[in-house]
Amino acid sequence: MVNDRAHADFASLDADGIARALGELGQPGYRAKQVLSWLYGRVVADFDAMTDLPARLRTDLAEAWSLQLPEAVDVQRSADGTRKYLWRLADGAMVESVGIPTDDRLTVCFSTQAGCAMGCTFCATGRGGFVRDLLPGELVWQVALVGRDFGARVSNAVAMGQGEPLNNFEAVLGGLRLMNHPEGLGIGARHLTISTCGVIPGIQRLSREEEQFTLAVSLHSAVQETRDRIMPGVRRWPLARLREVLIDYTDFTGRRPTLEYAVIQGTNDTPAEVDALVKFARGWMSHVNLIPINPVAGSTATRPGHAQVLAVASALKDAGVETSVRTERGTDIDAACGQLTQKHRPPGV
Ligand code: SAH
Ligand code: SF4
Repeated sequence: MVNDRAHADFASLDADGIARALGELGQPGYRAKQVLSWLYGRVVADFDAMTDLPARLRTDLAEAWSLQLPEAVDVQRSADGTRKYLWRLADGAMVESVGIPTDDRLTVCFSTQAGCAMGCTFCATGRGGFVRDLLPGELVWQVALVGRDFGARVSNAVAMGQGEPLNNFEAVLGGLRLMNHPEGLGIGARHLTISTCGVIPGIQRLSREEEQFTLAVSLHSAVQETRDRIMPGVRRWPLARLREVLIDYTDFTGRRPTLEYAVIQGTNDTPAEVDALVKFARGWMSHVNLIPINPVAGSTATRPGHAQVLAVASALKDAGVETSVRTERGTDIDAACGQLTQKHRPPGV
């Protein structure tokens, strides 16, 4: 059913697919740019409103393809300006995005799948299971619609909402390219970030793409036993191999990946854990980003006090590991992705 829908849904097309679809309708090359600009630059999801296209083409497109923007079913506004959106997609699947404004930037955190199959125990999305992969256009629209709601240009977009981006590689790459496209959102590749729980084949593939997308890896523990327990979906890709692959990635791309580390009291903040993290992160071009865990329903993961997070940060810095502590935004609106959907999910879905 999802496949049938994807065939007819214009959001399933990346930039090449749009060019092909218009070529098949006998159109010259510049038409693809026009359509792309309407859909993603101007966020107009109605072929009939694309006034610089010939009337006949508009009818042909409307007959061949379905086109439907995500619908905002809930928007929560934090006192700090962060806004969290719950979208209903064309088939009813629900996903979330977060808009995070700072002085001179607007960062949008978008989802790449409805749900996630990786089952991380501390993550609300992981606890809810997998629903479906998102389409390239569904990724771009989340970002574009948040930008429109803020009335601002989106400067950065991060695939840190629901889902594991490297389990939906083609669509995510297609979506990022549309965000990067001058007729799309025009966001610089370095300002587009993929966050992965450590899907090794995807990291290797990403390193060979020509765009300079930014990579973040959710590490959360450098002790194999602990990581296996809290991130069961990545057991098949052991830490030692992950480290090698990341070092290759930096050698190949010259870019520094971030290691995301959500600090969970008593689980990954002990001296032995910090020691393992130092060994994992030292000696290559990495950057550790510490995030106090956001407690989620049904999980026993407890958030440590601020002093404890700072103590972990200084232990890492003293050992020569480049480290930052993430400033928290939107905690009053459950801005950890996954939490809002859980509240709205009807029973049995
Ligand atoms: N699947 C990808 C991207 C989406 S999750 C990944 O795992 O990297 C985005 C980030 O939020 C990841 O670093 C993830 O580990 C983190 N995260 C998930 N649940 C969290 C929670 N309860 N508190 C803090 N960070 C959390
Ligand atoms: Fe999936 Fe990422 Fe959540 Fe793990 S942390 S369950 S990979 S969304």
